[in-house]
Amino acid sequence: MKLDAKLIRYLDNDHFRVLTATEMGSRNHEVVPTKLITQLAQLKHGGTSKVIKNLAKNNLIAKVKNNMYDGYRLTYGGYDYLALKTLSRRGTVFSVGQKIGVGKESDIHIVANEDQEQIVLKLHRLGRLSFRNIKEKRDYLRNRKTTSWLYLARLAAMKEFAFMKCLYDHGFPVPKPIDQNRHCILMELIDALPLCQVQEVGDVGKLYSDLMNLIVRLSKSGLIHGDFNEFNLLITVEDQSPILIDFPQMVSTSHRNAQMYFERDVNCIRTFFEKRFGYVSQLFPTFKQSKPDEIGVGVLKDDTDRLDMEVNASGFSFKLQSELDEFQEILDMRKEDAGYNQEEPEDESDDEHAVNDEDASNPLEEDDIKELVEEFEKAVLDHGLTEDQ
Ligand code: ADP
Ligand code: MG
Repeated sequence: MKLDAKLIRYLDNDHFRVLTATEMGSRNHEVVPTKLITQLAQLKHGGTSKVIKNLAKNNLIAKVKNNMYDGYRLTYGGYDYLALKTLSRRGTVFSVGQKIGVGKESDIHIVANEDQEQIVLKLHRLGRLSFRNIKEKRDYLRNRKTTSWLYLARLAAMKEFAFMKCLYDHGFPVPKPIDQNRHCILMELIDALPLCQVQEVGDVGKLYSDLMNLIVRLSKSGLIHGDFNEFNLLITVEDQSPILIDFPQMVSTSHRNAQMYFERDVNCIRTFFEKRFGYVSQLFPTFKQSKPDEIGVGVLKDDTDRLDMEVNASGFSFKLQSELDEFQEILDMRKEDAGYNQEEPEDESDDEHAVNDEDASNPLEEDDIKELVEEFEKAVLDHGLTEDQ
């Protein structure tokens, strides 16, 4: 999956209208009928089909055939384009620079904002990990109301941004969050190496206790990182202090598997320190000691510092989190299954796509289309963009 920043300058207003129409149509259709795209985009001089072909050629949308109708789906390329266009209009992204990381489910780029400051762009790419087999994938997709990876990637970005902001505001060592749109987040660039690349530290014991204290401090505030390991801890060049990143799997201490996640985080650090630095300590925190303080069974001493509650109230609700959890559980199974393989992302021009027949046989009513057209016009004309994506 390449991020093609050049396309942003190359595509004109008609392309933007058609791409936005495809995105809007995706809310109700897994495969957006060509007819609906044309209805929504309403290009002045017609010619939608030429624009559609052009977008498909550039892999911003992909043609999908099913037995009911022909249509298109937005690709990650198209989604990147729409997000970058929004971010560049807001001035938070001016130019896109080199890629500095390819995670399991993300791409990380250095970008510059309008003031030429370097910051980090993280693009979430859920769906990159392969399912064990097609059946498993189909089962998973069938059980979801909305089957879009793009939707899940957007949820992951919203979650990551909400947690990063909350943690940053409460003085935790995390990058400063800057902006978020669709599946993208922007954050401060940290001058650091991930712990996995650090061979030597001045004071191993101090780093170990800093990390354990960080796990406990999070937990006392009601949060567990859930992937607290040498890949998600950056060690600053300046003073070798740890900065925590990568929050989409964060859980509340009230989560039913909280203790397991907590212990897994603690054990990751213990195992790494033993392997890398030969450092073993008898001291490590337990979940029981690290839970938020209670004055009686189930009665919290003070609610105000419960960050899990604060994030819930900030808009990234427990309901949204549970949608993502469902997907996370599959990922966790993957991790524990030694045989899982990480694949290159699927070819975006691939026509093979699980299609939800119920969706196909349930076209939009006239009124729905009218409403969508109105919303589309508002989005494109008033703001130039669909802000709420
Ligand atoms: P993933 O979810 O794919 O694991 P991460 O958020 O962990 O993605 O980032 C992957 C890598 O990108 C990190 O290990 C780190 O090297 C680099 N990185 C991510 N965020 C930053 C940042 N704010 N500053 C510097 N490097 C970063
Ligand atoms: Mg990571």
